[in-house]
Amino acid sequence: MKTMDAKCPKCGRTHHLKSKSDMVVCDCWRICPVCGAEMTPHPPDTAPKTYALDGIRELQVLVACTRHFPPFYGVQKPVEVVADA
Ligand SMILES: [Zn+2]
Ligand SMILES: [Zn+2]
Repeated sequence: MKTMDAKCPKCGRTHHLKSKSDMVVCDCWRICPVCGAEMTPHPPDTAPKTYALDGIRELQVLVACTRHFPPFYGVQKPVEVVADA
């Protein structure tokens, strides 16, 4: 079966789509840009005050890498990769 190549605009990885209307979610948003480890989902609003500094509260923290201190908070949303039109 013929597949379509689609490049993730974020990390440049090539994904294979089944058709033009297919869509994949690249998992690069979960990779810590600092150490390259897979980050863990950040529980929403368990302690909203702890990172409500510098306007970061407006950004929705989705994942966190707890290998660092302070932890790295990922605000990158999942990247939807679609075929080039
Ligand atoms: Zn990606
Ligand atoms: Zn990390």
